[in-house]
Formats: sequence, C-alpha cells, structure tokens
Amino acid sequence: PNALLTPTHGTATAPFEYDHLDNTVDALRKSIANRLVYAVGKDLRSATRRDWLFALFHAVRDRTMDRWRETLATAQDSDAKRVYYLSLEFLTGRALTNALLAVGIYDAAKEACTQLGADFDALIDLETDAGLGNGGLGRLAACFLDSMATVGLPGMGYGIRYDYGMFAQRIVDGRQVEEPDYWLVNGNPWEFMRPEFSYPVQFGGRLVQEGDHVRWVDTDDVIATAYDSGVPGHELSSVSTLRLWTARATSGINLDAFNKGDYMRAVEAKNESENVSRVLYPDDSTEHGKELRLRQEYFFVSASLQDIVRRYLKSHGSFDQLADKVAIHLNDTHPALAVPELMRILVDEHRLEWDAAWDLCQRIFSYTNHTLMQEALETWPVDLMGRLLPRHLRIIYDLNARFLAEVHDRFPNDNDLLRRVSLIDERGQRRVRMASLSVLASHKVNGVSALHSNLMVETIFADFAKIWPERFCNKTNGITPRRWLSQANRPLSALIDARIGSTWRRNLDELSALRELAADPEFNSAFRLAKAQNKKRLAERIAQETGVIVNPESLFDVQIKRMHEYKRQLLNVLHVVTRYQQILAHPNANWVPRTVIFGGKAASAYYMAKLVIKLINDVARTVNNDKRIGDKLKVVFMPNYRVSLAEVIIPAADLSEQISTAGTEASGTGNMKFALNGALTIGTWDGANIEIAENVGLDHIFIFGLRTEQVAALRASGYNPRRYYDHNYDLKTAIDRIAEGAFSPEEPGRFHDITRTLLESDYYLLLADYGDYLAAQGKVDELYRRPTEWTRHAIMNVAGMGTFSSDRTIREYADQIWNVKPLFE
Ligand code: PLP
Repeated sequence: PNALLTPTHGTATAPFEYDHLDNTVDALRKSIANRLVYAVGKDLRSATRRDWLFALFHAVRDRTMDRWRETLATAQDSDAKRVYYLSLEFLTGRALTNALLAVGIYDAAKEACTQLGADFDALIDLETDAGLGNGGLGRLAACFLDSMATVGLPGMGYGIRYDYGMFAQRIVDGRQVEEPDYWLVNGNPWEFMRPEFSYPVQFGGRLVQEGDHVRWVDTDDVIATAYDSGVPGHELSSVSTLRLWTARATSGINLDAFNKGDYMRAVEAKNESENVSRVLYPDDSTEHGKELRLRQEYFFVSASLQDIVRRYLKSHGSFDQLADKVAIHLNDTHPALAVPELMRILVDEHRLEWDAAWDLCQRIFSYTNHTLMQEALETWPVDLMGRLLPRHLRIIYDLNARFLAEVHDRFPNDNDLLRRVSLIDERGQRRVRMASLSVLASHKVNGVSALHSNLMVETIFADFAKIWPERFCNKTNGITPRRWLSQANRPLSALIDARIGSTWRRNLDELSALRELAADPEFNSAFRLAKAQNKKRLAERIAQETGVIVNPESLFDVQIKRMHEYKRQLLNVLHVVTRYQQILAHPNANWVPRTVIFGGKAASAYYMAKLVIKLINDVARTVNNDKRIGDKLKVVFMPNYRVSLAEVIIPAADLSEQISTAGTEASGTGNMKFALNGALTIGTWDGANIEIAENVGLDHIFIFGLRTEQVAALRASGYNPRRYYDHNYDLKTAIDRIAEGAFSPEEPGRFHDITRTLLESDYYLLLADYGDYLAAQGKVDELYRRPTEWTRHAIMNVAGMGTFSSDRTIREYADQIWNVKPLFE
C-alpha cells in the first residue's frame, strides 16, 4: 500500500471556481507564456523549441480538461454502459494539430505563438509520432477513438505504452535499416501518469486445487501502471480516454538477492520484468510465437480487465449487471486472453459459478477478424502457455471440453468437425487457437469489409458459422475525416467549406453535395488548384528527403503501405520497368509525365519484402539518372512511412495504388484516405475497394485483374506463371531486365530470388494480373491528358466517400454489437 495513492477529497467550503480559459489570441498568448514558465520551468530567454512545444501542448490540453472530466463524470453519474476497446496497437501519430483543431483554436494559437516569437509551423513539425502500431489495424483503433469521442460514446481504449514504437526506417544504399524509435526520450506532454491505477499481473507459478476452487500461487508478478491520454472529439463534443499500461517491477521481486546483499542482481531482475512493455513487435500480419509477445498480450489484458472490474464494482454490489454495463471488444485475437482472464477473475477471485461467469463472458465479448491468411492466424504452443499462464490454459481446456461436448450433441458422428473447431490444434506440437477462442466467447464476430466478411464465413470460420450463423457480421472499416481531410488537406477542406459549409466534418455524407459541383468549371479549377498546392508541398518534401527533383505537374502515382508480397508492390515495379523500357524505345511518343512514389516498412526478418525495397531503390537510381528519360518518369521511395508522412503524401496523390491479389486485403483504409482526398484508385476487386467502387461509381475508378473466384480457380487448375511470361513480350522484357542486372550492374544476380520466385511459383499471381494492370495504367494516362475530365472524376470520388467515415463504422458497432448509447443527446 502506497500512502501517496490513497484517494482523498478536497475540502474547499465554498463552490470552487476554476480559471476560465478563453480561446482568444490574447488569452492563448498568456496561457502559452504561463505554461512555459509554470509547467515547463523556462522563460522566453531560455526556452528551447521543445519547451515551446510543451508549453503549447499544455495550453491546448488545459482546454480539453473540462470536457474530459465532464465526459467521465457523466458516464459515471448516468451509470452508462461502456465499451472497452482492447488493442495491442494504437497508431495515433501526432496529437497537437488534431487537438488544436478539435478545440477550435488552431489559427488563434498560431497567431499567439507568432506574437510570442515562436515559429508555430516549426513547432508543429517537431512533434514525434506516437507510432504504437504496425499499420492498418493500429491506425483503425486510432480512428475509432477519434470517432468515439466525436459521437460521444462512453468507453475507452486499452493498450500498451511501449517505450519503443514502430522502428524508424532509414534507407542506406537503397536498403532498409531499422532504428529504435525511443519516442518518449524528450517526455510526453500529452499523457497523465495514474499510479493509483496499478495492478499486479501474474506469470508462471503453479495451481493448487482446494475442493472446487483453484488457487494460482508462487507467481512472478509485474505491476502494470496506467498512463492516460485524452482524445478530443470534433468541437470537443466529448473526450475519450486512451489508457496505456507500462510495466514496473514489484518492489519485492528479488528480495532474496537483495537480502543476500546482492543489490545489483536485485535491480537486474527488475529490469527484466519491465521488458514486457519495452517494444512493439514490428511484424505486420504474421506472428512469431515469441514468449515476450505472449507476455505482452497477457500483461495488458490482465491489467485492463482488473481495471474494468474495479470500475464496475465501484457502483455495483454484484455481477448481475456486468453484461449490461460493460462491452469488451477484441481488436484481432491479440487480446483473446481477456476471455480466460475474465473467467479467472469471476470464478477464482469472486467465486461465481462457472456457468454464470461464462454466460456473462459471452454477452460481454465481441471480436474483429482482420485477416484470412493462414500464416497470420495466431496460435500458441500449449507448453509455453502452460508454463507462463497455467491457470488460463486450464480454463481454456475446461471451456473446450464443454464446447466440444455441445458440438458432439448437435452434430453426432462428426469427429472431423470436433477436430477442426477444437480450441486446441492437435496436429504436431499442440497449440491453442486464439481465433477459435475469440469466436467461442463472442456474441458477435465481424469482418472489416463486405467481401472479407463473406470470405470469413466461407473459409476460416465455415465450421463456426454452421454452429452459430447469427454470430457473424460485417462492419466495413472507416477513417476519421477530421485527421484525414480537415487536418491533412487544408486547401481542399477550405474549398469544400466555401461551397457546402463545414459540417461535413461530423456528417461526411454531406460530401455528396459535391456531385452537383463536379461539372462546375469554377469549382473544377479551384479543386485542381488545391491539388496542385498539395503536390508542390510534397515535391518539396521529396527533394528534401531524397534529393530527387520531381515535376509537380506530373501524375503522382502513389503506393504507400506496409511492404508485403500480397500487397504486390512488385507488380507496380513491373509496370515502372515496362514504362521505362517503352520510353526508351519510343522517346518521342506523347508520354504523360509520371512520378511513382513508394513508401512502407518491411518487417525486419521479411527477406523478400526487404529485397523489393532494394529493387525499388535500384530502379529509382537507374531511371532518375537516365538523361534520356527526363521527367517522363521519376521513381521515389520515401523513407520512414508513418502517420505524419501519410498526412503529407495522401493529399498530393493523383493515383492510389490498391493492387492486392483479390481475396487477400481484408479491407484497407489507405484506399479510403486517398479517395477522400481526390485521388483516383487503380485497384483490384478486393477488400473495401469494392465498396469504394460501388459508392463513387464504377465510371470513376480503374478496376482490373482477377476476381477472388478466378484466383481460386486459377490456383486450383495448376497456375503456371511461365505461360504469361512466354506470351507477353513486355512482361518478359521487364523480368529479364531485372534478372540480367540492368538495375544492379554492380551485382547482376542481386534480384534472382525475386525473378525466380515470380517464374517458379508467383503465389500472388502478379504475372496473371500484369496484362490487365498495364491496360488499366494506359487508361489512366489517357484520362490524365484531359485535366478537367480527370478532376471531374476526382471530385466524384470525394463526393462518394461519405459512408467511409469511421463515425458511421463506430455507430454500427455501438448499435449492432456493443449496445452502447452516446452520452450527450
Ligand atoms: N500505415 C499508416 C501510417 C496509415 O496511415 C495507414 C492507413 O490508412 C496504413 C498503414 C494502412 O494502409 P493500407 O490500408 O493501405 O494497408
């Protein structure tokens, strides 16, 4: 017990008046200067840029506090049902501009800084990204927090406060080099430490059976301590909470060593136990089964569940209403241990009957699936789980026994079915199937686009869908228009505001009013001008970061996302190489100048993805230095793709590359961000591309390639990539040029692993889709030659994107899965 952390109540006799904070320039100037002196401890003479940045942060954070406290107090006073979003990743990026805009003081704060002699734009650019996620899954969680705040849903996000987020990527000699992202090194002015919310998390130990009751003893414990950040909704409609856990050693951890006088060893052990919140695993889509990862999963889930149960019990005497007051969402299977953990808390600690506890679980949990790829489905060796979490493994076995008995009753004589749905994979080394556990415990299981949700019930969850068809549903992903249009694209936002007003920020469907303006010449040229401004800004950034000079009037053709074979950056490269060869062959043809821009990180152990980065950079070097090419073609790899860089690149894109093999991209959210910013999509019939096509209209998107059924049929019939290579001259030339070392003369065999894989297996069917992809690229050129027409199509894209607001998505979750109501209505 720590006396410092005991709750007390202030005893002011009269109602206490807090300072009222105005949002005028004068008031902000005073606030910033005050915060510089009284919170940061500097003055105008001695302040560094960091000091100014922190002072500005505090000034805006102060202005979110009243609404944050009101949000929490209202949820508590009204005993509202709350949703808890459990996610191992929150890719929130920068917080400052978003907060300034949410509070409505962006311009005033800028003026206040200027009056104080601080360079506002430079400060904004100094903030480090909170890179606590890999890609789409983590960014989705961040958009959801923004939408929960804007819609006013009571609840919070729970995750890990990693010391090191997603690694920083440098490109050295064309290759990816990873550097640790110690994002907290200068402090984090946005968060609040909440040491009073600290919980022991147990590992290891053994089980003692006492009658019906199981005790888990002799464990090695770690303390989880909460850090809270507020996520302000649009116009401060409410503020939601992101609570991240950091690991602290228990003070008693190595008393033994300490007592023997081995002080250093006692401290070492502390360090080790604190490793659990040290670093984000930088693998997108694939799991490596590392013990530390399993520890991380249990660590954050256990702390979160203890916190949720504590909060519930503060105002309820029994667990009768738990499922009416609490919804817990599992963002992928990473938090699936929440299921046995809640069972443990209810049964072992609070002595509920097993069946009553299980009934509560099934009403409380829901789960989102994010991938169909077999290799990405999470499983854990039974041995490892038994050693680290013996109580949870026992609970999983008990759940499984009851479940399999039920299935046996309903489907007698189907032993194969039992084997397939079992929570334990008995083939080879026995493993716990985290997806099966998540489905078993959840009353709703959703996919993230219409196609993905259909495929989910037809493939990986076909057996479960037979048992519980009503459990499965779709919730197409969305993105927050505040960050991804209002904040990232000020020129376009200002134009839209001038024509249809500004309320689209909270009702994105209003963008459909732009359809009528698509044919308006004045609007058309203003739209083109906004795009040109964004392209100029990006061209400057490209020059700064890569030294490559690009023509801002060229077609900006962009593919930014994690480097992964299924996303097919390599298909894009094949097009680039073909175009290069064709320009050399026909230098005087009427080429549409293009700048092809790539960005993305490869998992550090992903050999092929890293080799593709090197190939892109080698092709870029060759093409960009070939005097015969000029600005007809430029190739750029932007290093260190992350949220803040996406905010600069996406508004400047003309063409959005969404070219995954049909059936592999669960949804995509990058695709939505581009279309919302007036890029045209070149894409396959995959993930949310399909719904984007349906909403913007098939006339306004470039769809190409095999459909999911055709992919399956081609694979089933014995796909032979050589057939395409032998019959397509351009394709053959492109592959041959890469194989001969045309882009790596100093090491001609450098890309043999790429060309050999393409010709021998080509699992993702690049060669099969190449011809159609090139034809679609030809149509892109043709349209880009007619700028007014191109812009009309771009406007139709923006106009059709209303449904892809994450506000829509979050309302669907709230109504159809969580049964949680907005606080303020
Ligand atoms: N990484 C970042 C920084 C993003 O902003 C996004 C966005 O939408 C993604 C990854 C996911 O991109 P995609 O959906 O194209 O895979």
